[in-house]
Amino acid sequence: MKNPKIIIAIDGYSSTGKSTFAKLIAKELGYVHLDSGALYRAITLHALRAGMIDDSNRIDEDALLDSLSGLKISLRPEVYLGEENVESQIRQMDVSNSVSPVSAIPFVRSFVDDILRECGKEGGIVMDGRDIGTNVFPNAQLKIFMTATADERASRRYKEMIASGKQVTFEEVLKNLSERDYIDSHRSVSPLRQAEDAIVLDNTTMTMEDQMVWLKEILKDKFGMEF
Ligand code: C5P
Repeated sequence: MKNPKIIIAIDGYSSTGKSTFAKLIAKELGYVHLDSGALYRAITLHALRAGMIDDSNRIDEDALLDSLSGLKISLRPEVYLGEENVESQIRQMDVSNSVSPVSAIPFVRSFVDDILRECGKEGGIVMDGRDIGTNVFPNAQLKIFMTATADERASRRYKEMIASGKQVTFEEVLKNLSERDYIDSHRSVSPLRQAEDAIVLDNTTMTMEDQMVWLKEILKDKFGMEF
């Protein structure tokens, strides 16, 4: 039997492994993976490069709004600004430090929402972010909310950044995660929160394999999907 093309929405705290998990699920099901955070990061990179964000993270919102209509962002599936692949630049600490204030701006959110809804309208997607199940696709057939202790998340992200040659300390990473989670959960538009019908996945002590086993059981029980 052919598996149905549902929408899987994965939300949760920073560095819970949402994108890695979403990518794996998409590969397993033959779905498309969309990392919504990459779009917010690409807009932040654009704003930083254009000098629209000062050292105190104050944003020139008028200039940013003006520039958005001419901004070409695409997920192929890596993220591009125009014809430039910016996948690596958007993961740098300067972008991480400014992305939450940028993504709290209502017009930035509706700009990104439009792109995400267009990309996902046919189903057969796994999209990860902070407001996918609550705002972008409130009718998603499966919603997962990922969490893990802050120490575990910071430790994973720290190791990942060191392995890719980035110069950071564990404390910087932990501070960045905590600040982003705070801003993301407290903004007025589409704050990070668990959708009422989301299934919680606390992966503090789980491997990626454990998480796939967990998911496959749900897909089989809820949707009769076979692997
Ligand atoms: O997922 P990632 O950590 O790359 O996301 C970076 C930031 O983008 C988040 O901290 C959050 O501020 C913002 N974001 C958001 N809504 C989403 C996805 C990401 O506000 N759906």
